Amino acid sequence: LRVICIRIFFIVHFYKFRCLEGYVMTELKTFQIFVDGKWQNSKSGEFFESFYPFTGKAWARIPRCNESDADLAVGAALNALEKPEWSGLNASQRGHLLRRLGDIIEKNAEMLGQLEVQDNGKLIAEMGMQCKYLSQWFYYYGGLADKIEGSVLPIDKPDTFTYTRHEPLGVCVMITPWNSPLLLLTMKLAPALAAGNTVVVKPSEFTSASTLELAKLVKEAGFPDGVFNVVTGYGPEVGEALVTHPNVARVAFTGGPASGARVYEKAASSLKKVSLELGGKSPNIIFDDCNMENAVKGAISGIFAATGQTCIAGSRLLVQKTIHNEFVDKLVEFARTAKMGDPMSPDTQVGPVTTLPQFQKILGYMDVAREDGAECLLGGGRAIAPECGDGWFVEPTIFAGVHNKMRIAQEEVFGPVLSIIPFEDEDEAVEIANDVIYGLASGIWTGNIRRAIEIPKRIKSGTVWVNTYRALSYIAPFGGYKQSGLGRENGQKAIEEYMQTKAVWISTATETPNPFIMR
Ligand code: NAD
Repeated sequence: LRVICIRIFFIVHFYKFRCLEGYVMTELKTFQIFVDGKWQNSKSGEFFESFYPFTGKAWARIPRCNESDADLAVGAALNALEKPEWSGLNASQRGHLLRRLGDIIEKNAEMLGQLEVQDNGKLIAEMGMQCKYLSQWFYYYGGLADKIEGSVLPIDKPDTFTYTRHEPLGVCVMITPWNSPLLLLTMKLAPALAAGNTVVVKPSEFTSASTLELAKLVKEAGFPDGVFNVVTGYGPEVGEALVTHPNVARVAFTGGPASGARVYEKAASSLKKVSLELGGKSPNIIFDDCNMENAVKGAISGIFAATGQTCIAGSRLLVQKTIHNEFVDKLVEFARTAKMGDPMSPDTQVGPVTTLPQFQKILGYMDVAREDGAECLLGGGRAIAPECGDGWFVEPTIFAGVHNKMRIAQEEVFGPVLSIIPFEDEDEAVEIANDVIYGLASGIWTGNIRRAIEIPKRIKSGTVWVNTYRALSYIAPFGGYKQSGLGRENGQKAIEEYMQTKAVWISTATETPNPFIMR
């Protein structure tokens, strides 16, 4: 009997511990949401499943939240905003908390990277490194927190002392997509917390686990309850409830253009501040004076890294006619060697597509390209190979003979599908590059210093890379021209997107002047 009692004691405590940690053990890992520093089920008590793209099998259950959960989370964030545990901290103390979170993230980077792979199927080689790099955002904005200074104004009125203060906006909602959940959240979270706001996050319904796990690290770092909250579920059910909530001051959104436009419209009814990081159809331009080996690698990294599931994918490869055939041959030869397979294996180069709908969408675009007359030089369908198992794999695909007016050149595929478009000279390259509704990023490959300086001026995109591609840093502003978005993330100015400026006027006059006229 003693032995049985001891076993029961351990089983009960094991389950209690797991519940406290944010999930309960069932056949599938079952997560809870994080609101006001506590782990809890959604109000509906319902769940949806999260899938591992490499096997196509469910591995986790995620709470399906609705308007009531959104209301609870915003309420918690609003309360936390007023409490001295958060609002009473000075900027240096906030910065210290951020840096501590950076340390904790660095220690847990491997675990976070594996979780990301489990949900989005991207390579562990990339996600592990990316998760380690997240800590830099918390160090950078932690350092910046106490360097945001108001100023005393050289005001033009007599007997007046006027100065500015930079204050937090309030409750900030962050809505993220599935391709790089933690990176795209961190780009919003670090400046928002450094500025003294409180936060409610709604990660993608396809990749919620890593954000929930991050909540544990935020708590461990010592952020007060309610400063960071996570609700999970579908955009129209819980995302929209957050976007329209009257107590939310700011919405930071990364995702597709259609959802972004809807979020913008919904947030406008209560005049919320909004930033949008949306889609792209980025040109990667190969001039005939480039270093061809490097440019081939640049073209590959632009479209096949992350299985092409990146907003900055260099999905339109503009190749100067003088080197077109030679370049394309080299490119196809290189792309053919890409090793597909298990994203957890460190030597895999192309992993599966993250979601089943995305997998179907990519295959659909391959048909569209063929119907519109593009010539398929490589791939062009589902990848079926033993190393791909039952996963959602598509072949690295290259279409040549693409005209910029074709749908494959105008619409975001978000997959490993490259369109090659020939061009004659600089003017034509620039014209084609700018002839899309997007303007997120672009690449230029040239050995000519004049081109390296002049062409970036003419390209309408928020980022231009010259002789490199897909580089990102917490230091460099990132965001879209045209329909690729609104606002900028990263860099010093990003913190201002989470603050508002107040002008304070103090009269030093001994006598109040005529009250009937404006001073
Ligand atoms: P998506 O628009 O389907 O979803 C993004 C997020 O928005 C999810 O959390 C979703 O639940 C939520 N959402 C959807 N409808 C909503 C609504 N009506 N109200 C509130 N929230 C809503 O995008 P996705 O498929 O997850 O991601 C792929 C897209 O994201 C691509 O277009 C890609 O280019 C874009 N993206 C952009 C950047 C960037 O920085 N510019 C980075 C990564 C991805």
